[in-house]
Parts: sequence; C-alpha cells; structure tokens
Amino acid sequence: MSEERVVFSVIAPIYNEIESINEFYNRIRLVLEQLQQPWELILVDDGSVDGSTERILALAEEDERVLPVIFARNFGHQIAVTAGLDASSGDAVVIIDSDLQDPPEVIPDLIARWREGYEVVYAVRSEREGESWFKLITAGLFYRLITRMTEVDIPLDTGDFRLLDREVVDVMGTMRERYRFLRGMTSWVGFRQAGVSYKRAARFAGSTKYPFKKMVRLALNAVTGFSFVPLQMITYGGVIVTVISVLLWLVDLLLVLGVQGIPEILQPGLIGLFFLGGVQLISIGILGEYIGRLYDEARGRPLYIVRKNKTQIEHNEE
Ligand code: UDP
Ligand code: MG
Repeated sequence: MSEERVVFSVIAPIYNEIESINEFYNRIRLVLEQLQQPWELILVDDGSVDGSTERILALAEEDERVLPVIFARNFGHQIAVTAGLDASSGDAVVIIDSDLQDPPEVIPDLIARWREGYEVVYAVRSEREGESWFKLITAGLFYRLITRMTEVDIPLDTGDFRLLDREVVDVMGTMRERYRFLRGMTSWVGFRQAGVSYKRAARFAGSTKYPFKKMVRLALNAVTGFSFVPLQMITYGGVIVTVISVLLWLVDLLLVLGVQGIPEILQPGLIGLFFLGGVQLISIGILGEYIGRLYDEARGRPLYIVRKNKTQIEHNEE
C-alpha cells in the first residue's frame, strides 16, 4: 500500500438524530484516526428540530475537522448528501448514514478497494438487522424494480453507503438535477466500480426518517430519472386497450343481434367506459410525473439553501 498523503472526507446527513450524533462522531473518529491521514467530517443538518443542529455546531467548535452545513429547512436525504459532496475536499469521499446502520468500521475496507484503483466502491448489504418485514419486502422490491426499469446498471441491495473518488465527486458536481437518485447517478457516470459486502446494523437510536411516503418518492425519482419505461408502458397499454375494445365491440354486436343471457353489468359499453377511464387517468398521471419534474427543473431553483456553514460561523465570531 502506498502511503502518500491523501485526505479523506466523510459525509453524513442528519435529520433529527440527536441520540446518535455523539456515538456516531466517536466511532467515525476512532476509525479515521487509525488511517493516520488528514480527514474531515461533514455533518449536513437537514432541518433538524430536535437539537441536532446545536449538537453539530458544538462538535464543530470542539473539533475543527468537523464541518457543519446547516440547511434552512428539510430538503431530504439525497439533497443533504449532495450538499456534503459540494462541501467536500477530500481525495476520497465516503457517504454514510448518521444513525450507525452503516458501520463506520467498514470504511477501511472501502478505502482498501479504492487504493486498488476503483473510483466507486459501494457497500452491499449482505444482511439487515432490526428492520421491519415491511421495510425488507418494500426495499427488496424497490431494488429489483429499479434494476428492471432503468437503463443503468444499479447494483442490488446497495444504499448510498459508498466511497467516491475525487474525480467522480467532481463529475457529480456538474449534475444538478433536482430529483436525485444518487445511486443511479454514481452508476451512470461509469468509472471503475467495485462492491464490498457488509452487515447492515440496526439503528443506534430513534426511528426511521424514511417513512413510506419518502420511499415512494425516492422510487419515483429513481424510475423517472433513469427510465422512460413508464411512458412506453402507456403506448403498450393503449394497444392492449384497443384490442380489448374491438373484442368488446364484437360482444356488443351479439347483443344487438339479440343473443340473450348477457347480464347487464357485463354490458360491454359500461365496462369499456370504466376501463378506458381508468387507463386514461393513469396515463395522464404518468405524463404528469414527468411534466411536473420538467417544470421544476426548468425553474432552476437552487437545490438547497444553507443557513449556516463553517465560513459563516467564523465570520460571526469575528
Ligand atoms: N435523513 C436526512 N433527511 C431526511 C431523512 C433522512 O438527512 O429527510 C438522514 C437520516 O438522518 C439518516 C439517513 O438520512 O442519517 C438515512 O435515513 P434513515 O435512517 O431514516 O433511513 P432508513 O435507514 O430507515 O432507510
Ligand atoms: Mg437508517
């Protein structure tokens, strides 16, 4: 292993994790200090309201390697990680959850592969501890759906816990889309990629900040961001519906010709009406998902708003 001087950045998004922050910081520090290289820990506060913000600022005060980025409100996990990437300056940048589900002790394994020459080293969950069966099933379905529907090769059972080379971080910095799916983006850029498997732990404290609604939103961003399959499905659906309606028309013809015994509820005209109505609404909804995102991207608002960061804090102190 060559021992040239490199700088490591670790990015952790934090949304109401007051009970975990200190433990997280201690474990990260222990791991990073063993590497005997300079490092920085970027703590992105994603609009916490439980005192996490003050705790982050206190840590930054004690340890100058801790860089706080305090958001003006909750912008969401993917955006928080993006802000961390923007603020980072390391040669290798690690993205990790702050609830200790991603064990900091895995970081040296990621770094080892990076030193072998891989620019993206992602951590694959070989096991998950302390998750509800609902989370396990929906997460499993999610990963498989994304793989099926998107054109980029996104590794299965892989979250955002990963190491990115500076080069990759710089390329990602030029990708300013609002509806982000970082896993897709880091696969899309290419480079040499490798996986390291690890056992995903239970949360250190608190409960998930990814309720079902946020999971659905992330899945929608993943699909719309990397695939046109839903739009193509509308076309296929249209073809199928047209064929069915021709068949129904034939049944209708039988009715008109006086064939008895077809119950009223099964009258083709009525079924056809409901069916077509449903298909059309779904199709318009899918179009809407894409158009809404297009509109939002067109507005070109900043991805996030920082209320406080290190330079601003230093300014206030002067
Ligand atoms: N998080 C965030 N903003 C959010 C939701 C979550 O910064 O709006 C952070 C959270 O503090 C944690 C990480 O993102 O460090 C992953 O969230 P969580 O553990 O709730 O997700 P899960 O592991 O249950 O999928
Ligand atoms: Mg978690």
